[in-house]
Amino acid sequence: MKILLVEDELKVASFIKKGLEEQTYVVDHANSGLVGKNLIIKNQYDLVILDVILPHINGFELCRQIRKDDEYVPILMLSALNSPDDKIKGLDAGADDYMSKPFNFSEFLARVRVLFRRAHQQHPETIITLADLELNRDSKTVTRSGKHITLTAKEYYLLEFLLINKNRVMSRAEIAENVWDASFENGTNIVDVYINYLRNKIDKNNTPKLLHTVVGMGYLMKE
Ligand code: CA
Repeated sequence: MKILLVEDELKVASFIKKGLEEQTYVVDHANSGLVGKNLIIKNQYDLVILDVILPHINGFELCRQIRKDDEYVPILMLSALNSPDDKIKGLDAGADDYMSKPFNFSEFLARVRVLFRRAHQQHPETIITLADLELNRDSKTVTRSGKHITLTAKEYYLLEFLLINKNRVMSRAEIAENVWDASFENGTNIVDVYINYLRNKIDKNNTPKLLHTVVGMGYLMKE
């Protein structure tokens, strides 16, 4: 579980980071809104903890910016601003929860667990799109520019997995773990083979290319 902590007060930040690391969470710390923004562009997080009063970009604004790109990452706001208006502002900006400082650390950890739990249960929307590619998880159909694309079941599930994780590099191991069952043998090139099948069907006669190889790391779907 990887957490981004955006907090400019170093003492508070190191206290929170240490406490979270004791729970075996991995924590990246950003000491300003701008640093936080850059980290979130580069990395994938399972949770963002956001202070509100921050240099460069305040927490409300950063929260809105994060939400533009990612509907799902849980965001917990943590601020000394504790009026109902501030909480409303934070929740309306896209935060999932808002705690005021000073706070009780055990309660904080419980809320972190709730957010993780909820994120796990949450299913992405029925229709996932990327550029002109559209996948419908109910009818299990795929179209590109409105034209139907026929996929085998395996190709479909591979594409669905990559699209759920769009804009995120997925390693061969992650793909294999999620798309193939436990009998999958490591060391076979089955993932690469299916990526090729899929690429031929969705990208070959279309632009922009959506399925990208990231050398040495895996595969990524993005515009
Ligand atoms: Ca602050």
